[in-house]
Amino acid sequence: MLNSLNALTVLPTDPPLLYSPQTGAYLAAAQSEAKDFLTYQKQEAPDWLDYYKKLKGKRKELQRFILNCFTPPAAKPQYQPFQTSISFLGEFKCNLACVYCFNKDAQKTLNKTKHFSEKLFTVALQKFYKQKSGWPAVDFGYSGEPLLFFDWFQKLWAINQKLAAQYRKPPAALGIMTNGLLLDDKIIAWLEQHGCWIGLSLDGGAEATNSGRGAKVFERALKNYKRIFSRNSWIKYQRGVSATISSLNPDVSRVFRDLWGEGFRQIYMKPNRAAADNPYGLNKKLWPKLKKGYQKLFALFTADLRAGRLDRLLAIASRFDYAGRFLCRILIHTPVTRRCGAAYGSVSLRNNGDVYPCDTYAAMLKHQLGNIYTGFKWERDFIPAVDDLEHCRACAYRYICGGACRVWQEYNDGDASVECALNKFLIELCFQLAAELEKYPEQKQLLSACIKHNIVPPTRPGSRKEKK
Ligand code: SF4
Ligand code: SF4
Repeated sequence: MLNSLNALTVLPTDPPLLYSPQTGAYLAAAQSEAKDFLTYQKQEAPDWLDYYKKLKGKRKELQRFILNCFTPPAAKPQYQPFQTSISFLGEFKCNLACVYCFNKDAQKTLNKTKHFSEKLFTVALQKFYKQKSGWPAVDFGYSGEPLLFFDWFQKLWAINQKLAAQYRKPPAALGIMTNGLLLDDKIIAWLEQHGCWIGLSLDGGAEATNSGRGAKVFERALKNYKRIFSRNSWIKYQRGVSATISSLNPDVSRVFRDLWGEGFRQIYMKPNRAAADNPYGLNKKLWPKLKKGYQKLFALFTADLRAGRLDRLLAIASRFDYAGRFLCRILIHTPVTRRCGAAYGSVSLRNNGDVYPCDTYAAMLKHQLGNIYTGFKWERDFIPAVDDLEHCRACAYRYICGGACRVWQEYNDGDASVECALNKFLIELCFQLAAELEKYPEQKQLLSACIKHNIVPPTRPGSRKEKK
């Protein structure tokens, strides 16, 4: 088993076969640049299985054990090395009107007179390339449809290459997350030739996707996206999909199986951050379905391990998946001290240069940090340290969780209870899976190596569509 999986993790070099906004090379740069941030001493990973067996059924003791394992050595944790990232929003323009889209608020504040500009790309990228620490990841057209402005993406690519050469740094990786409706052979060929990653956004199978996005959206998007599967180059390994979990598709197990069955091999599921009273938001009424869905999904992964199979677990073992990031932190033992790097490390830009903490925050004008042309202020404590949050400071899982998403909490008038309950539940599932993994040292070693080096194993060329 290990040999066949090992073969899958080999990275062809021309060009690299990583589906990720951050290629291996990029991550190496980020890690070495991040030394001036506080880093935690590496602790030996504990023998989860032994501990888990001993403590199984004793929830409080298990929590105390987890807390001890994840207590950072510094008395007061400071800043973890979040990646620097810039997101060019494109004013949230989209060719769909998904019923659950919380960016409808942002669309009300569209700046209709301004388009992207080469000046915007240049000024923003220059600021980030000049920074000593970190290395920019660049997102384009997030929270909208980037293929509506593909000509601007091409310009961004050219500016990025030029500035990277000028500052003698590797260019920030660029790519596109699309709803797939405008994808054609010409665009695919361009992305292929220029080494850009591409991912699809779907909400599961036909039923889940079309109920939120419109009739036949699933079929049309998939037909376009599958054009890349048959190309004879590195791009055919791009099998990434991102799914929003809302009241329309709370059974994550079904979402995962449907997307896996269509041939996707990096499957990232994230909850919709709408308010709990929004008809499409996640709330306590949906809790039993959500919980059951995750339990079924983790039962599938456990059964896979017993059958000597790791590929489906690898599909979510990434910091881009809501549950997968907890598993990553547990397995490679990387505590976090904050939820995210919004406003301090990552920012999102409107077309007129206005700067916001993240793309979701760009809907809230009161949180504008400044303007890229006239100046903006980083806000180190915009996302508070988890130890400074009253609700979290005694939580056993705080260094795996980092606290609740601030913007989701704001949409819920300060109430983080739904997200908090979800996080605790998922972290416990991840611990159970980590304990199970202890029985399979080869798989554990391989999985940890993939996570550590940000390796997404390419799918076996020619692999067939599997039964769901
Ligand atoms: S949000 Fe909840 S799970 Fe996360 S650290 Fe705070 S109390 Fe713990
Ligand atoms: S505030 Fe929430 S939505 Fe914004 S970057 Fe942080 S986790 Fe993501």
